[in-house]
Amino acid sequence: MLLPGASLGVLGGGQLGRMFCVAARTMGYITVVLDPDPGSPAGHIADHHIQAGFSDTEALDQLLTMCDAITTEFENVPAQSLEYLAQSKPVYPTARNVEIAQNRVREKNFARAAGLEPAPFAAVISEDELKTAIAEIGTPAILKTSTMGYDGKGQFVVENEQQAMQAFREMKGVACVLEQKLALKLEISALLARNASGDIACYPPAENEHRNGILHQSIVPARVSDELSARAIEQAQALAEAMDYVGVLAVEFFITEDDQLVFNEMAPRPHNSGHYTKDAAVTSQFEQQVRVMCGLKPGDSRLISPVAMVNLLGDLWHPDWSRLFDEPGAKLHLYGKAEARPGRKMGHYNVLAESANQAKVIADGIFERLLAE
Ligand code: ADP
Ligand code: MG
Repeated sequence: MLLPGASLGVLGGGQLGRMFCVAARTMGYITVVLDPDPGSPAGHIADHHIQAGFSDTEALDQLLTMCDAITTEFENVPAQSLEYLAQSKPVYPTARNVEIAQNRVREKNFARAAGLEPAPFAAVISEDELKTAIAEIGTPAILKTSTMGYDGKGQFVVENEQQAMQAFREMKGVACVLEQKLALKLEISALLARNASGDIACYPPAENEHRNGILHQSIVPARVSDELSARAIEQAQALAEAMDYVGVLAVEFFITEDDQLVFNEMAPRPHNSGHYTKDAAVTSQFEQQVRVMCGLKPGDSRLISPVAMVNLLGDLWHPDWSRLFDEPGAKLHLYGKAEARPGRKMGHYNVLAESANQAKVIADGIFERLLAE
């Protein structure tokens, strides 16, 4: 068990790493970030910032001498680096955990084996396979790159074989997955933390609204039946147990028009849809990440209040923050990014209210006022 005073390393210096460092430092841990970017959001907050790439052996060795345990804030970290680090120090999530989530085909097969139900899909690595896949899955379908996709990047909705071929060529024939495009009623995500002894804490699912492939808003609790909500939590837990997962895990689900619960994807780290936990849960997802990598029991995951979380992207900058602070239930979180670019996540705010509906109404109102001239 690693107690306050121990030193924790994180691979990746984005906002998730930053919020991890804030949580760790609040609890009295020392933090070390590995990230090549001198202006990384986490680098500003950590005790130490090693400015180097994720496969730089010298930098990994330095991290090992400075840290008692290591975690990651993004799933595309090289699994080899995690394996290398794990030879000397505890690393959670493990290379194997992360490897599953890095590849959509592996991830869907693994989820299916654990009893979850992904949308009908087929792995595609050639034009011939794509033809067969289109015949099998039908259209409309979505062609997604198997690796490295995020925020809707690397995906094309295709209506017929010709469009699928064109999309495949545009992606330069990289390994893809073709999946049936489902008619969605809602999207939800289940979030949990699990330690190496198998102790687990599950949060109530969040209801997620995406805009242009990027999460716009999450509201909690999700406006779904207790039965669906319980099933999503159970399935996320089953997946974590099947992977012998250690860390914070987010599992995205679709709810179809006919109320089927469909597995979409998982993230082996704190998740954007879990940022509400910073203000509206007893324990934030970042504190959980600290706890479970240190071998502590996960903290209480109870919701303190219904909440809505809204992402602030770099499309509109600089907003007049006084319009947000006029609302007493709103909590602002900015990531300290110097440059605002369209689609770039710059921050978020949480709004606590009597009900999820009410939180959403207030959060939407703030968003409109921030956008207004
Ligand atoms: P990312 O890694 O970019 O988050 P996702 O696979 O989660 O990729 O897809 C992003 C969004 O695209 C989803 O949240 C959902 O809104 C939509 N989407 C993805 N797959 C499907 C599908 N099979 N049917 C309907 N909508 C989908
Ligand atoms: Mg997603």
